[in-house]
Amino acid sequence: MPQALLLENIHPDAAKSLRDHGFTVTTMKGALSEDELIEALDGVDLLGVRSKTTVTRKVIDARPNLSAVGCFCIGTNQVDLEYAGAHGIAVFNAPYSNTRSVVELVIGDIICLLRRIPAHTHHMKHGMWDKSATGSHEVRGKTLGIIGYGNIGSQLSVLAEALGMRVVFYDLEEKLALGNAHRCETLNELLEQSDIVTLHVDGRKSNTGFFGEDQFAHMKQDSIFLNLSRGFVADLGALKQHLDSGHIAGAAVDVFPIEPKKSGDPFETALANEDNMILTPHIGGSTLEAQESIGHFVSQRLEDYWEKGSTSLSVNMPQINLGDNRGVARIAHLHSNLPGVLARVNHVLGEENINIAAQALSTEGELGYVVTDVAQRPSRETLEALRSIEGTIRMRVIS
Ligand code: NAD
Repeated sequence: MPQALLLENIHPDAAKSLRDHGFTVTTMKGALSEDELIEALDGVDLLGVRSKTTVTRKVIDARPNLSAVGCFCIGTNQVDLEYAGAHGIAVFNAPYSNTRSVVELVIGDIICLLRRIPAHTHHMKHGMWDKSATGSHEVRGKTLGIIGYGNIGSQLSVLAEALGMRVVFYDLEEKLALGNAHRCETLNELLEQSDIVTLHVDGRKSNTGFFGEDQFAHMKQDSIFLNLSRGFVADLGALKQHLDSGHIAGAAVDVFPIEPKKSGDPFETALANEDNMILTPHIGGSTLEAQESIGHFVSQRLEDYWEKGSTSLSVNMPQINLGDNRGVARIAHLHSNLPGVLARVNHVLGEENINIAAQALSTEGELGYVVTDVAQRPSRETLEALRSIEGTIRMRVIS
């Protein structure tokens, strides 16, 4: 029976799904150190991790028969992706599973800030009844400026319009404007007209400090700022100055340049005493629904890879989305991206007079992946000849 090891308290639906697909599944609550992981991976085909277990070169060298790693989260920095790919280990993640959770928190934050809920709560907790409409607004009719119109930004656009907001967005790439959203040509065009500015850019290095003094200075008087993207993209010192001066009327920050490693660790921020401020500990995507969705999504990718050879949505393999086997056996051949490998695979099969029922090839960077459904079961010699083709990284026969 194939073996799966799921670490770090991955949602139980993932283990159930893998068991339903014939795996023996071992689950563990915590993360493992490098040496512990090497030991635990003995005989394991599929590994599931979240963000705290690192799959290093040492781990890969020690356990070269591992077939795939599922990152049950968004990020994949914890795995040496290139090294894993070069050793035929496919890596999958869940890039969209918490999108909705982030969007809902953004909407909630915006409504709370426009109604000055953090300030009202603070006053109530300190025994002050401050019933006043001053500075409180509806979201309807307000202009929401979305910076970064990817998975999260574009879904936010749809929900914000449903609440009656006018949406403008700015993205480095050409993006289809959903609904009535308007694409801004420049960042300043967005900043100068938005009542609320929200950051949803990705974590590329060049976004470090991307939103600083200049950008805050371009925001409208009494506007609202939110960052639920990455901590290093916004200058929180500049934000504080604009809050203190009364230029910006409120802010929500969920991500910080330096974040504690684990729950319960101490945390300090200069924004703690701001009046109309929502501070959250990087929980934008953290809901039970998102965890469940991640559990389903990643386990399905692992099962499809194991059972069909499908690499679609893998983060380190050439991508092929495969249906059911159209022959009697499927041969998945991962190789270095060199000229002539496909021809050699077909030559070896032709030598044994094996008919090809279907074939798909994809290459990406250093890797090539060819999956062949064959009409006759290949002999041991044929499989050995396929394995001996120059550049072969890994070959798997899937029946
Ligand atoms: P995505 O890759 O789908 O979208 C990012 C978009 O930003 C892309 O369209 C890209 O072209 C654009 N972009 C990048 N740099 C830009 C710049 N300087 N100016 C304008 N546009 C720029 O990403 P996503 O899934 O929508 O996630 C957005 C962000 O949210 C990421 O940083 C992600 O890490 C973060 N995130 C946070 C949480 C949380 O818990 N707070 C949860 C999930 C994702």
